[in-house]
Parts: sequence; C-alpha cells; structure tokens
Amino acid sequence: MLQRRRSVPVNVGGVTVGGSAPIVVQSMTNTDTADAAATAAQVAALAAAGSELVRITVNTPEAAAAVPEIERRLEDMGVGVPLIGDFHYNGHILLTRYPMCAAALAKYRINPGNVGVGRRHDENFLQMIRVAMDSDKPVRIGVNWGSLDQTLLTRLMDENTKRADPKDARGVLIEAMILSALESARMAEEYGLPQNHIILSAKVSGVQDLIEVYRLLAAQCDYALHLGLTEAGMGAKGIVASTAALAVLLQEGIGDTIRVSLTPAPNGDRTEEVRVAQQILQSLGIRSFVPQVSACPGCGRTTSSFFQEMADQIQSYLRYQMPVWKNQYRGVEELKVAVMGCVVNGPGESKHANLGISLPGTGEEPKAPVFADGKLMTTLRGEGIVAEFITILNRYVDSHYSSLKGAETSPVTRH
Ligand code: SF4
Repeated sequence: MLQRRRSVPVNVGGVTVGGSAPIVVQSMTNTDTADAAATAAQVAALAAAGSELVRITVNTPEAAAAVPEIERRLEDMGVGVPLIGDFHYNGHILLTRYPMCAAALAKYRINPGNVGVGRRHDENFLQMIRVAMDSDKPVRIGVNWGSLDQTLLTRLMDENTKRADPKDARGVLIEAMILSALESARMAEEYGLPQNHIILSAKVSGVQDLIEVYRLLAAQCDYALHLGLTEAGMGAKGIVASTAALAVLLQEGIGDTIRVSLTPAPNGDRTEEVRVAQQILQSLGIRSFVPQVSACPGCGRTTSSFFQEMADQIQSYLRYQMPVWKNQYRGVEELKVAVMGCVVNGPGESKHANLGISLPGTGEEPKAPVFADGKLMTTLRGEGIVAEFITILNRYVDSHYSSLKGAETSPVTRH
C-alpha cells in the first residue's frame, strides 16, 4: 500500500489538493485566452475528459479581460471546473488591473523566476500575494528550470565556488530550484498568506532530475506539491518520460496533483494529456477512472486482426459509457475486462478479470468462452461475438454495481 507524504491541504475552487484528498488530475489549455469562445470550449473538453482543474494562460490585458467571459461561458455550458491563471512577467499588473479576472480564477500560478529583478522582484511577487490574500485564493509557486531566478542561481554559484567540496553545476541548479520555491513560499507566508493557500512545484524536463528535485523538496517541506515533467515532448516519448518520472515519485507518496505536459500533434487532441494522467494513476492502483481492458499483444497464433479490433471496440465502448455509468453504478470504474487472442493465456487471463473472453486462435475450434468472476459463464460463436459480449458486459455491470440514487440517464447502447 502506498504511503502518501503528509501535506497541508489546499482548497482550489472547491477541489482539495493535498492532505488525504485523492491526487488531482489537471491540465492546461493551448488556445489564445483572449479568444473566450475557443478557450471555454477547450476547457469544457478537458473537463469532460476528466480534468479536475484547468489552467489557462493569462499573459495580456486582452487575456485577463476575457477570463470572466470564459467563466460565464463555462457556467452556461454547466461546466464548473475551477480555472487556474498562469502568470509570467506581468501577473502583478494583470491581477491588480483586472479584478474580475482575479475573482474568476480559483488559483494563481506564480513563477518566481520571472516576476522581476532586485527590489522589483519582491515587490511584484508580494503584489500578487496581496491579491491572493484579498480574494482568499491559493497560489502555486511554480519554479521551472527554464526560467529559474537568475539572481538566486548566480548567488548560489558564487557560494558554491567557495565551498571546500563544491557541487557540480547540476547540483547547484537543483539546489537553486528548491531554494527558489521554499524562499518564495516563506516570503508569501511572512507576508500573511496562510500555508494552506500555497502549492509548490519545481519542474525540469529530465526524468532523473525531476525525481531528485521532488525527493529533496518533499523532504524539506509539507506544502502540497504539484507534480509534472515539464516539456515532456510528443507522442510515445512524452508519455513514457512523464510516466517514468511520475510513477517513481507517486510510488514514494510524493505528489498531490499531477499534470502531463504533452505536446499534441498539429491539430491533435489536447485531452490526451488528461487520459494519460488518469492512466498513470490507475495503472499504479492509486485512483480508478475507467474500466480497464487487458488484451494480449497477439502473435503468430492469431493471424486475423479480429481480436485487436474487438479489444479496441470494447475499450472504446467502456470509455463511451463511463460518463453515464459513473452516475449510475458505484465503483464501475474498477471493472476489469480481458480480451484475449487464443487458448494459451486466454482462459487464464480471462479468469483473473471480472469479465473476460478468450477468442479462438488460428486452427482452434471457432468458439469464445466467456468467464465471469473466474468461472465459465457461456461460450460465444459466430459473427455476433462483439455485440453479444457487450450485452453480457451491460448485464454484468447492472447486476454487480449498485445503483446510485438519483440517476436520470439510461445506458447508452452503441453496438
Ligand atoms: S494469448 Fe495467444 S494470441 Fe495472445 S499473445 Fe498469448 S499466445 Fe499469442
């Protein structure tokens, strides 16, 4: 069983981050925030995919002015996901000049590496903290190695050269990131922002670097931590690198909210980052979001693509049903289904699932035994195997997961 690190819980627009709350999935839009219609539509899509918090860039006066409009549009769509404003360079100006923007946002992300230099650094930083205090909003102090506080880094480099046993440049960089986050949090607290209004992050793009930074940060404070590999990249690289880094830290109980920073393909689906974040948590057994399908990879024993197509159809069907099922059946997201390609591992794997089907491999008798809770339930044959299995699946869900009171919708059928 995972032992979560103790952290101080933070209320972000009604969603608790930290403490004993479930690890929160969040995401970020890539629309121009000044385009309220496009941004509201993408926020709604991310929320529908399961994002529990959504961050939007607030980089210009036009973007800040659009935030209340985005909130209104989301309300009209019945989307209540808390919005987080991402501020760099001019956040102190925008949050002060656009009070409706400050009011509409549930949290402000502040990057202490780009709030100004010298005296202006502290003034601008505290100006944002003042807005947070006045509006009773939490902040994330988000350090990123791509925009690290250069004054702090230079100071630490200088101090390092005077040490008897100096660290290498990477070690100093990691130290600077942690110090930037902790010193900023201390400054915010001294100014009056309560600890339960502060979340920290310190993101880098290297897997081993991220693990080291967060282990050190987690050991030195009990602020809630936002976890993510920055600039993870595209496709398999981004997914695997994010999973590798986050899995190690989550397994150690580190992290209260996660974001997977995938670069979508041109015109790609932004909601993929939400599904990946959910899958990381579900694969680790930390949270469940959607029934899981175990499918074998296939091999020379399966010469047709039928079982791959069936596995894909069942996976899609489950994801399609979930928005309805989750309001109807308590615990259905923990359902495990197996779709297997031949007799070698098919019956065995199917018996381990709640519901499993073992399709016939090449040269095997054309029949597909179906197992429910480890026992042979029936055997399917012929052309209608997928539709029949989906009917069995619907019946299994209906009979094994208790109804949630007040459900108004009925199961969707899409065979
Ligand atoms: S279950 Fe059968 S078809 Fe699937 S990978 Fe194993 S041997 Fe191949």
